[in-house]
Amino acid sequence: MRKISILGSTGSIGKQTLEIANDNEDIKICALSANSNIALLEEQARTYKPEMVCVMQPEQAKELSLKLRDTNVKVVTGVEGLIEIATLDSIDMVVTAVVGMIGIRPTIEAIKAGKDIALANKETLVTAGHIIMPLAKECNVRILPVDSEHSAIFQSLNGEDSSKLSKILLTASGGPFRGKNLEDLKNVTVNEALKHPNWSMGRKITIDSASMINKGLEVIEAKWLFDVGFDQIQVVVHPQSIIHSMVEYIDGAVIAQLGTPDMKLPIQYALFYPERRTLAQKKLDFYDLTNLTFEKPDLNTFKGLSLAFEAGRLGGSMPTVLNAANERLVDKFLNNEIKFLDIQNTIEDVMNKHNIINNPNLEQILEIEQWTYKEVESRCYK
Ligand code: NDP
Ligand code: MG
Repeated sequence: MRKISILGSTGSIGKQTLEIANDNEDIKICALSANSNIALLEEQARTYKPEMVCVMQPEQAKELSLKLRDTNVKVVTGVEGLIEIATLDSIDMVVTAVVGMIGIRPTIEAIKAGKDIALANKETLVTAGHIIMPLAKECNVRILPVDSEHSAIFQSLNGEDSSKLSKILLTASGGPFRGKNLEDLKNVTVNEALKHPNWSMGRKITIDSASMINKGLEVIEAKWLFDVGFDQIQVVVHPQSIIHSMVEYIDGAVIAQLGTPDMKLPIQYALFYPERRTLAQKKLDFYDLTNLTFEKPDLNTFKGLSLAFEAGRLGGSMPTVLNAANERLVDKFLNNEIKFLDIQNTIEDVMNKHNIINNPNLEQILEIEQWTYKEVESRCYK
């Protein structure tokens, strides 16, 4: 029996994790969480009967607690609440499906409590990978990737000697603006940016995909998950999203994982690793795959991708600045407060102003997050 908590159960990854639980009797849902969607969280609580749920705002937690008073579900709140559900005695795994750096503390505490992590929340690894990966090793905890590319890499490394890996080929769809230039992107709208050609995902990651900053975050995520140098990670644009990523070995052999663009496979693989299970999804038809293509990313237009490589190479607190600036700027773009290209341009400005702190501890990471938010605010006038 897999006993799990889902941080962010009302989101895209969270809901798909629950769908997998519907199809597998040996998953027990012990805790769930939402930011503010208490209507859906109530519904989930009634369906899955977890012992605890968490809502971020105390007033909403109170409201939900009243709604659930005819049940045995305990309602907790805030980051402390997230930590509580991430460290419950009754669980053996946490699915981190919240969006953003809010996932750092619960993830760290879950690892300390010996829980395996099915990791979707890439922002956490981008900013605190240097804390999380050694801690997981020390606590003998597995970090199982949910991100489709990282799951593909993980699957392609199965049974191989990872010291014989020469590079990771991280595939990218290129998003809705592939082939466009800076001029074309000047006035793109939120709706245009939210139209991802292949994947249906939460709003923040969809914008990150349009700017290709998602791929940049994934480069840093791959560095931490697979302990490779940035020179060993090559981003390959593959618009059809059929090859989910590949690894090249020292003898030139390239091993890949392919599949339809569907997050259920990587989520299920992380939940039951090392076991493979049936998944009732559309399978690939190779007679239909007449046109798999590959391109170099356009780093001039999608500057966010090179900024991420730069932040990763500089290391220390710089990835936190990149990530925190991006989180705040994407929010502003989604609220129509700034233009699309302001995202990458402002990230660059704030990175230029930052004095790197090497090996930042958790407190410093959270301070730099606040510093970055202030810097972003001072550059964004309505
Ligand atoms: P969604 O926006 O769909 O869902 C996010 C979840 O986190 C929701 O449950 C939301 O609650 C909750 N949440 C949002 N903000 C906060 C906050 N400040 N504090 C606590 N909880 C919060 O995101 P996705 O499911 O798309 O993405 C989740 C993570 O997985 C991200 O890190 C993303 O990069 C990663 N990922 C997602 C993929 C996808 O296909 N969606 C693919 C690969 C990685 P509420 O519903 O109340 O707002
Ligand atoms: Mg991905």
